Amino acid sequence: MKTHNITLIPGDGIGPSITEVAVRVIEAAGVKVQWETVDCGLPAIDKYKDPLPTVALDSIRKTCIALKGPLTTPVGSGFRSVNVALRKEFDLYVNLRPARSFEGVASRYSGIDLVIVRENTEEFYAGIEHYIDPARSAAETIGVVTRSGSDRIIRYAYEYARSHDRKKVTTVHKANILKYTGGLFLEVSRHVAAEFPGIVTDDKIIDNMAMQMVLNPHQFDVIVTTNLFGDILSDLASGLVGGLGLAPGANIGYNAAIFEAVHGSAPDIAGKNLANPTAIILAGVMMLRHLEEPEAADRIEAAVASVLRDGKYVTRDLNPASGVGTSEMGNAIIGALK
Ligand code: NAD
Repeated sequence: MKTHNITLIPGDGIGPSITEVAVRVIEAAGVKVQWETVDCGLPAIDKYKDPLPTVALDSIRKTCIALKGPLTTPVGSGFRSVNVALRKEFDLYVNLRPARSFEGVASRYSGIDLVIVRENTEEFYAGIEHYIDPARSAAETIGVVTRSGSDRIIRYAYEYARSHDRKKVTTVHKANILKYTGGLFLEVSRHVAAEFPGIVTDDKIIDNMAMQMVLNPHQFDVIVTTNLFGDILSDLASGLVGGLGLAPGANIGYNAAIFEAVHGSAPDIAGKNLANPTAIILAGVMMLRHLEEPEAADRIEAAVASVLRDGKYVTRDLNPASGVGTSEMGNAIIGALK
């Protein structure tokens, strides 16, 4: 059996506790991994005085694949997001964020199975912003949307739909108001859609989309959108299926991929053994499929589904009466693997 070299970024906040569980689950499924553990974010500032140290970048350059815990970004000031910097550094232009219902998880809907394909390198996340004068009387952010950036993400969404037997792609935009950036994204989506006649094509303005997802999420299948809208809609989608503790994500480029949960470092519950490890474990499942380890991926997914269905060994976000912690839920998933 092949040994995979994978960069492991434990992250901060709840990151180290959930990545520890994900590593144990992946190893218990029999996958052979040589982990290269490197720090980014707050722990890297303590160690290297740099939130994105060269040692981390070099490791990903070498392994081309990483499993990453969440990283805190200071709000309103301080260093820029390391998550965004990693996506830009490795040109990880796809942010793939599936949201599906699990039996046994109390949520507003059942039977949801949708995938958000978020553009991951452009628009308002690019960090082109500044105060217009020394008195800071106004600030400006520039969101650049390119034809080539739109084409590659929309094409990815349609190709993903075709290869995963999905029927419909919905492009989400604000082209009524953002006539240039939104207009360009929508125009490109219409061109690309014409090459995929077997897939139903639809588009929605973001505000209507938010309402439609809450009212009737079952009408959606694959959703493709620009960076900021994708960020917001993917948290919304996780809320439809039971919360952020269940939502995995993948950042994919031509030469590298970084797998992580949709959620952040959850400072409100960090260090309390309360974090649900499911999202990062399911990100690990996405990583194993990417590494062509489908059997291990299927086994882990089935073990997670059975622990969720059973509902006994799940963290407090899924069962408020539960005294089960992060590591105990991990142990139950490993037990279900066997
Ligand atoms: P968050 O996603 O960390 O938390 C939002 C809410 O969801 C909190 O109440 C939290 O307790 C809960 N939650 C999140 N993950 C959970 C889990 N696994 N189990 C149970 N409950 C969970 O969002 P936030 O509080 O807005 O952001 C905190 C920090 O995380 C910020 O610095 C933000 O920039 C960063 N962040 C990082 C990433 C990333 O690393 N990719 C993503 C989003 C946010």
